[in-house]
Formats: sequence, C-alpha cells, structure tokens
Amino acid sequence: MEAKLLKRHIEHNNQIRCVYCEENLLLGEPIYVDIAHTMTHQRCGHYLKLKDKGTLTSVALK
Ligand SMILES: [Zn+2]
Repeated sequence: MEAKLLKRHIEHNNQIRCVYCEENLLLGEPIYVDIAHTMTHQRCGHYLKLKDKGTLTSVALK
C-alpha cells in the first residue's frame, strides 16, 4: 500500500471511490485492498485477491 499517497488523498479531502458501486469510501468504513491496490467496500469486493483489509483509516496508516 502506498500509505503516503493515500494519506495525501485523505488530507486533501479527495474522494476515493469503490470501483464496484462507485460510492465514496468513507474513512471509518471497512474496505478491502486488492493486489493491484484497488480499494472497495468489504460488502462489494469479497471476491478480490486481497492484499489488505480494514477501515480506510487503518489501511492508510500502515
Ligand atoms: Zn462499494
């Protein structure tokens, strides 16, 4: 995970969208990160090849 990049995104209040439902990922929401660094809601991306999971905040701070 490119944590610095993601942190910058969050600090600048850029929205990160789930690629499946196209809704914004919220900071406290459980998400999955796949091996291509695609981020989705856990409710949307359950069949991904997972690299990481957790809330957007916890993934960003790793
Ligand atoms: Zn979604």
